[in-house]
Amino acid sequence: MEKCRASSRIIIIGAGVSGIAAATRLLQNNFQNVQILEAEDRIGGRINTVYFGDNVIDLGAQWCHGKQQNCVYDMVKDMGILHETGDYYSPIKRVRSNKEVVPHELACRIHDIAVKSMPSGPHPVVGSFGTHLTQTFWRKIESELPQVNRDVASEALNTFAKHESSIIGADNLFEVSVREHIEYHECDGDKLLHWGTKGYRRFLRLLMKVSADTPEELGLLEGRIQLDMKVIKIELACPRKVILRCQDGDYFEADHVICTVSLGVLQEQHEKLFVPPLPAAKVNAIRSLTLGTVNKLYLEYEKQPLPDGWVGFFCFWLEEDLIELRKTEYFWVEGITGVHMITCQPRMLMAWVNGPHGRHMETLSDEKVLEGLYWLFRKFLTFEIPPPKRFVRSSWFSNPNFRGSWSYRGVMADERNTGPWDLESPVLGEDGHLGLLFAGEASSRNHFSTVHGAVEAGYREADRLIDHYTSCSVSA
Ligand SMILES: Cc1cc2nc3c(=O)[nH]c(=O)nc-3n(C[C@H](O)[C@H](O)[C@H](O)COP(=O)(O)OP(=O)(O)OC[C@H]3O[C@@H](n4cnc5c(N)ncnc54)[C@H](O)[C@@H]3O)c2cc1C
Repeated sequence: MEKCRASSRIIIIGAGVSGIAAATRLLQNNFQNVQILEAEDRIGGRINTVYFGDNVIDLGAQWCHGKQQNCVYDMVKDMGILHETGDYYSPIKRVRSNKEVVPHELACRIHDIAVKSMPSGPHPVVGSFGTHLTQTFWRKIESELPQVNRDVASEALNTFAKHESSIIGADNLFEVSVREHIEYHECDGDKLLHWGTKGYRRFLRLLMKVSADTPEELGLLEGRIQLDMKVIKIELACPRKVILRCQDGDYFEADHVICTVSLGVLQEQHEKLFVPPLPAAKVNAIRSLTLGTVNKLYLEYEKQPLPDGWVGFFCFWLEEDLIELRKTEYFWVEGITGVHMITCQPRMLMAWVNGPHGRHMETLSDEKVLEGLYWLFRKFLTFEIPPPKRFVRSSWFSNPNFRGSWSYRGVMADERNTGPWDLESPVLGEDGHLGLLFAGEASSRNHFSTVHGAVEAGYREADRLIDHYTSCSVSA
């Protein structure tokens, strides 16, 4: 017999923002038996705000990307806690690896041409982002800036492509589908809305309705999250139940399970994790979508080390220098697009390192990473940067509970005719029971890769259960 909302037992795997969104939505809709099992010793998943420097830094999500149709923005827009960043990138200097600073006006003109060369509109919908960008860029350079030094234009294109890859999360743009770029819905408005000195965890607290006087508590989710509880087996059993087995031997039974683990965890674990095996369409999606690696490096100084007039620099590699670099132990610094200051942290510098170079960086000691960074500083800058007071970095790929940073749709997913919609679909038990549901950022059709996509996915699956129980009680 069908249970009601109050007695139905729901277990959510993962206390990232998607799992937290799903749990809070269910609790606010009269489900009373809701629990989250989390493998890490903290909540938040790829939102990880830590104290550092003058206040906090985000090792994971940092910005709310846009306003229109963005559920994160909608939730906080009247509270005055999200702040505009404005033009973050154009004041950053473009410096060549022979230490020459590219004139600002020229750098901006080439950048504008690169921006206009990105895929847009309904056509073309096949092929790779990289091919489209490269061909269109050089066509536009010929017609709009024919006198430009081709070496500088080529260096600018490479850096632009690397920067775009790090936004998408891809190793390079030739792996990214043009369709993904068009079907991903950007939310209009400032793409870099930030949380001031509070970091992205401020949003988690709002979701959980944590009161301002007890910021370390869990609000609506108090007593409902079990940390250090790694699920290693999910069995769709009969009649109408799901059994979860955990690494430490714990065992749970639920009526419904919402799985929010990252695409990387699914890729590595799905064959062992699910009994019976997942349907072919879902396995196809898991194997064909991609979880990229993007890591952050933060350096704290006694005082800001960049001279007046500098907010940072993008690296324009001369071809011959790049060839030399690739032969050295510092080859991984090619994955750093640039180094710059960050908002609300006046004494800090930050760099991003993505793709295979980001994964290699994770295997190095802090000392070796700093050695590489300072080699980069000396290569590009005419002034000295003193040693940092403190240094911290993320390692999203080597953590088995993530295996990467955020998802994107590569050309392989197009070729195999799959996408987030196949990740999203629930798996029914043999008796047709709505046993296993999937959320998480990678399952969002148009906002994958983001916090707002993860929240929407959590709400979507909570609503699926809410609707299920509404129709049950109506038909009862
Ligand atoms: C460096 C970085 C920067 C980013 N910047 C931004 C940004 O500025 N803006 C933005 O919108 N997005 C950004 N993102 C993306 C954003 O953080 C993610 O899309 C979002 O947080 C994903 O949430 P989720 O709940 O889907 O997944 P997760 O946060 O990965 O949550 C899943 C949870 O499941 C847990 N788990 C895994 N396996 C198991 C298991 N077997 N048993 C139990 N628990 C398990 C994990 O520990 C994790 O806590 C960034 C991500 C990274 C890594």
